[in-house]
Amino acid sequence: MQDLIEIGPRLVLPVAGGGTFPLRRVFCVGRNYVEHAREMGHSGREAPFFFAKCAEAVTTAGRVVYPPCTADLHHEVELVVAIGAGGHDIAVGAARDHICGYTVGIDLTRRDLQAEAKKLARPWYLAKSWVGAAPMGMLQPASRIGHPRAGRIALSVGGEVRQAGDLAEMIWSVDEIVAELSRFDVLLPGDLIMTGTPAGVAAVVPGDRLLAEIAGVGRHEFEITAAAR
Ligand code: MN
Repeated sequence: MQDLIEIGPRLVLPVAGGGTFPLRRVFCVGRNYVEHAREMGHSGREAPFFFAKCAEAVTTAGRVVYPPCTADLHHEVELVVAIGAGGHDIAVGAARDHICGYTVGIDLTRRDLQAEAKKLARPWYLAKSWVGAAPMGMLQPASRIGHPRAGRIALSVGGEVRQAGDLAEMIWSVDEIVAELSRFDVLLPGDLIMTGTPAGVAAVVPGDRLLAEIAGVGRHEFEITAAAR
């Protein structure tokens, strides 16, 4: 049977050391660090929650186009978890068996669209998801780097540190995130989970160079470029 249309190659994330990780869904955790929850106007005592981006958001490119329909594009540096083995109702203690790797990613956010959506009790989807909304580094296999649960997570713009925290400061730990999300839906191989951002989120503009780093995981650097006219 022939497909009605051509959609090009399947979506993958390159793996450090060779190979690719085929992409399925991109789940995200909101307000998973107390200081970031506070800077967004909350107490920091509320439970984190989930939202999603499309798989087409993922990009390892060194240049990322400033998206349309925003004047307030924010960076959020996050640890990204890759699901290698699916499962439903995964126990916290078994979460690592379902994780095949990690990378550092940026949850780019059209903050003005998100603020409007919050005010009108509308979905965040277009504030969080578009092609290129999730720049990230190559996947680091857990077989090479283990399962990082502490270590510095930071983002700098033009050499100036904007965000700095520690993975150990997460409200829901990585293992708790996997367990909690798997209560709501079966997790599938190829799913990614972005695990929330520390404080210091701020705007970027075309020409900015971003460097995201997580100790023991890696770094990812890219430039924001002006929209093509
Ligand atoms: Mn985020």
